[in-house]
Amino acid sequence: MTSTASNLLDGKALAASIRAELAQRIASLAAAGRPQPGLATVLVGDDPASHVYVRNKRRACDEVGMANFHVELPADAGQAAVLAEVQRLNQDPRVHGILVQLPLPKNAGYDENEVLAAIDPAKDADGFHPLNQGALMQGRPAPVPCTPKGVMRLIDHSGMKLKGCNAVVVGRSNIVGKPLALLLLARHCTVTLCHSRTTDLAAEIGRGDVVVAAVGVAQLVKGAWIKPGAVVIDVGINRNQAGKLVGDVEFEAAQPRAGWITPVPGGVGPMTIAMLLENTLENLS
Ligand code: NAD
Repeated sequence: MTSTASNLLDGKALAASIRAELAQRIASLAAAGRPQPGLATVLVGDDPASHVYVRNKRRACDEVGMANFHVELPADAGQAAVLAEVQRLNQDPRVHGILVQLPLPKNAGYDENEVLAAIDPAKDADGFHPLNQGALMQGRPAPVPCTPKGVMRLIDHSGMKLKGCNAVVVGRSNIVGKPLALLLLARHCTVTLCHSRTTDLAAEIGRGDVVVAAVGVAQLVKGAWIKPGAVVIDVGINRNQAGKLVGDVEFEAAQPRAGWITPVPGGVGPMTIAMLLENTLENLS
C-alpha cells in the first residue's frame, strides 16, 4: 500500500463510536427499568500518570451514563486497607466493575497479585483476575483485558482476515502481550511472542502480517522492518527527548510500508477505555 494518511487506524474515532453505542445500550437498560451499570475506580498514591488515566476513565463513565464510584487512598494506606476497599466494593450491588489502577506504589509493600485476586471475578473490569486469565487461556467466556481487547477491535476494523496470518507481538507482560497472544491464537493466527531476550527482532517482525508493539521503548520497532502491507498496532506510550508522546514504532518510516497503522496518541489508548466500559456493562448483563 502506498503512503497516505488514509492508512491510519483511528482509535479515537472508533472508540467514540463504541462509546456512543454503549450509551444507547445503557439508556435502553434504564428505559426497561434495569439497573444502571457502575464502575468502581480505586486509586492508591499520587502517581501523576495514574491520576490522568483514572480521570479519563471516570470522564468516559459520565459520557456514557455509567455510574462511577471512586476511591482514593494515600500511598501509605497499606495492603489491608486496599483489600478492605475491594471487599466493600465486591459487596456493593451498585458496582458491576472494579478497577484497581496499577501500578500500586513501589517500595510500599503492596502485593498487586493479592489485590487482583481479591476482586470478585464477576466484577473484574480489567480481566486481570487469575480465574479470568485462566478462562482466557482455555478459550472460555470471561472479561478480557482491556488493552488486548481494544487491539483486536482495531485489527478487525482494518478488515484484516486473521485466520492463517503471522502475528508478531512484541512484549510479554501479563496485561498486554501474553493475553494478546492468546486472543490472536484463538483467531487462528500463527503467533510469535517477542521479548527482551529475542535474538533477532528485525527478522521476527519482518514476517508479521500483523505486528503489535507493547514494550515501552520509544521507536524500538524500525519502519524498515515492517513487511509491506502489514497491520501495525502501537501500544507503547513514551516521551521522546523533545517531551512529545511517541509509541514503540518508528511511525514516520513505518507508515509508508504498513497497510494500516495506529497513531500515538489516538490509537490504542482510547480503545482501552472503551473496552473497560464495555466489560463493566457486560458484567451486568
Ligand atoms: P511491561 O514493562 O510490563 O512489559 C514490557 C515488555 O517488553 C516485556 O515483556 C519485555 O520483555 C519487553 N521488552 C523490553 N525491552 C525489549 C526489547 N528491547 N525488545 C523486545 N522486547 C522488549 O509493559 P506493559 O505494561 O506491557 O506496557 C508496554 C507499553 O504499553 C508501555 O509503554 C505502556 O505505557 C503501554 N501501555 C499502553 C496502554 C494503552 O492503553 N495505550 C495500556 C497498557 C500499556
